Amino acid sequence: MIDSKAAEHARTASTDEVIAELRRRSAFVMVSHVKPDGDTLGAGLALGLALRSLGKRVHYYQEGLVPRNLRFLPDAEKVSSEVPADLPADALWVFGDMSDTGRAGEKLPPLERQNILNIDHHLANTRFGALNYVLEKECSTGTCVMHLLRALKVAITPEIATCLLTTIMTDTGGFMHSNTTSEVLHLSADLIAFGADREEIANQIFANKRVAAMRLLGQALSTAQLDDDGRYCWTIVDDAMLAACGADGEDTEDIIQHLRAVDGVEVAALFKAFDNEVRVSLRGNGRINVQEAAARLDGGGHFRASGLTYHGSVAQAQGAVREALRAEGL
Ligand code: 5GP
Ligand code: MN
Repeated sequence: MIDSKAAEHARTASTDEVIAELRRRSAFVMVSHVKPDGDTLGAGLALGLALRSLGKRVHYYQEGLVPRNLRFLPDAEKVSSEVPADLPADALWVFGDMSDTGRAGEKLPPLERQNILNIDHHLANTRFGALNYVLEKECSTGTCVMHLLRALKVAITPEIATCLLTTIMTDTGGFMHSNTTSEVLHLSADLIAFGADREEIANQIFANKRVAAMRLLGQALSTAQLDDDGRYCWTIVDDAMLAACGADGEDTEDIIQHLRAVDGVEVAALFKAFDNEVRVSLRGNGRINVQEAAARLDGGGHFRASGLTYHGSVAQAQGAVREALRAEGL
């Protein structure tokens, strides 16, 4: 049964409703998801910069550290895993790029729904906010933020433009993925005109690799398997491989895109078996909905990019993921 309150929460908030709420509040906490990427951080930092220009108090909450390749983002050094002790009770917590609050980690204080704004572009967002600005057609959470900034009529500084272009370049894979529409390219052109340095962002997020990451990539590719008549490509990275390469979890980012790029592959999976749990990344090439496959195992994401955490052995994770993919048509 859907009660009217739940239905009200499930509704997508209008841009005007969201900016009225942003104007009304005086203090904000921008929340980014665990293992943050350029979208969750860039979107929060951009909105934070804009709100500060309106005289608001802004904090940034992230359970872990900002990854090495995102420390160039303006204000990245302000991101903290601590909640300020003197935060006003009516501070608005702005979750960016998350389909559910669990994606923010386990250390957040209990929050009341009335103090949550949810800005996202994932499929199957659980609408956990009082206001849910969930625009599934947007390429990034950052472009959702850009619509808000335009309505707020704040000046897009080079710093804000840098944060926003980073969200787009992250989630379009440097303008390579299918979500790179003509509108996305026009928005990106505007951001470059506002002072974002596309080449610098590309270098920061796609180059700058540690040699340890390259060695790990080599190992992961040399042990990759092709199954289901070549439609499914997968590989495993574990603690021993990280240690052998001198790598860490941040060095795994690029592996999956190479698995998906193999000719004939429809779905790629990367199993990261670290610390007694298995983090699984899934990527599809357009036929199979990997968001639905991940959702079968309590994960989520997008049609072509999703992820989940499996609590069990890597062999069990492999079996469960293959079953979920087959149920989605692999
Ligand atoms: P990645 O493979 O890069 O970790 O994640 C790909 C996509 O899936 C991202 O959009 C991310 O937000 C989503 N995703 C990854 N892990 C999870 C998860 O455990 N739960 C949910 N709901 N989404 C996830
Ligand atoms: Mn995103």
